[in-house]
Amino acid sequence: MTVKLNIVLRRYIKDHESILSEGDSLKKRFSSKEKEGILKSIREKGLKEFTPSIGCDRRVSYPQAKEVFGRSEEILNQLVEENILEKFMIRCVPTCPKDNSILESKLMCPRCGSADIEKKLLIQDPLSRGLRLVSRDQLVNQNVDVKGAFFECRGCGNRFPSPLIKFYCVQCNMEYRLEDVDLMKMSGYRVLEKAVETGKEVEELKTVIREVMEEKGFSLENSMVEGKSGVKHSFDLYFRKVVDGKEHSIGVDIVVRRDKVSLEDLLPSLIKSHDINSYMIVVVMPLSDFSCKQLCLLEKNIFLIEGKNVEEIKKSLEKLTF
Ligand SMILES: [Zn+2]
Ligand SMILES: [Zn+2]
Repeated sequence: MTVKLNIVLRRYIKDHESILSEGDSLKKRFSSKEKEGILKSIREKGLKEFTPSIGCDRRVSYPQAKEVFGRSEEILNQLVEENILEKFMIRCVPTCPKDNSILESKLMCPRCGSADIEKKLLIQDPLSRGLRLVSRDQLVNQNVDVKGAFFECRGCGNRFPSPLIKFYCVQCNMEYRLEDVDLMKMSGYRVLEKAVETGKEVEELKTVIREVMEEKGFSLENSMVEGKSGVKHSFDLYFRKVVDGKEHSIGVDIVVRRDKVSLEDLLPSLIKSHDINSYMIVVVMPLSDFSCKQLCLLEKNIFLIEGKNVEEIKKSLEKLTF
C-alpha cells in the first residue's frame, strides 16, 4: 500500500515538474497571501454581491470589483474557482456578432422602418363609459380601464400590433435583426459566507502558530525560500532558529477547507517538500482524508498537523518537538 502510494506521488511530481519550475502555485491562481488579502477586503468592506453594469462602451463591467481588486470580471471568475464566490445568472443580453459589444435595441415601424412610433391606448372613459383613443404619452390618470393597444408610425401613419425590433451596435455602427444577434449571459457574483469565515480561521491559525513557534525559540522570517531547483517557494509562515551554531528552519503551509481537505489541496505542499532542504509543517483543518495522511508520512521532512478547530491544532503543535 505504502509503496504503491509512493509510486503514484513520484509519478505525479514528475508530471508536474514543469508547473513546479514555472511557479510555486500548482493551480496558478492566487498565492495564499493574495487569497488572504482578498478575503480580508471582502470581510472588511462587508461585500455580499458583485453586480454587473453596462458601460458607455457597451461592455459589461463590475465597478465594485474594480474598486476593491483593481480588476474586473477575470478576477471574479477566478474567485469562483477558489470557492470564494458563486456565479448566478441575471439575464441574457443581445451582443454584436462582430465585436461582442452589447447592442442597443430599437423599435421601428414594420412598414417604413421609422423609429418615430408611439403607443396608442383604447380606454374606457370613467364618466361617459364610452371608448376613447389616447396616446400613451398623454395618459395622466393611470387608473383607467385599458381595452386595447396598438402602435402608430408618425412617419407613414401605419398602425400595427407590435413594432419591429432591431438592434444597433454603437461600436461598429451596424444594425441587426433579432435572429442575427448573439446572446450573452450576464452574471452576478455572490460571496460565499463560509469562505469568508475560512479566511478568518486562517488568520487566527497564523497568530496561534506564530505564538507556539516563538515559544519554541523560533523567529518569523521572510516566507520566500529558494529550493534546490532554484525555484522560489512561498510558505504561509517561515521560521528559523539557531542552536549551537546550527540553523534550523521550518516552513508552514496552512490548508483550511469548508468540509474535508483532499489530496489535491495538499499536493502543492507535498511537491514543495521535495525541493526544499528544510522541514515543513502542514496545518490542516478540519481533517484530511486517509490518503493525505499516508502521503505526508512518506515525506521525511513533513509534519502533518490536523485538527477540527484552532484549539486542537494549537495542542498538537505544542506537542511537536524539533
Ligand atoms: Zn412607418
Ligand atoms: Zn458591432
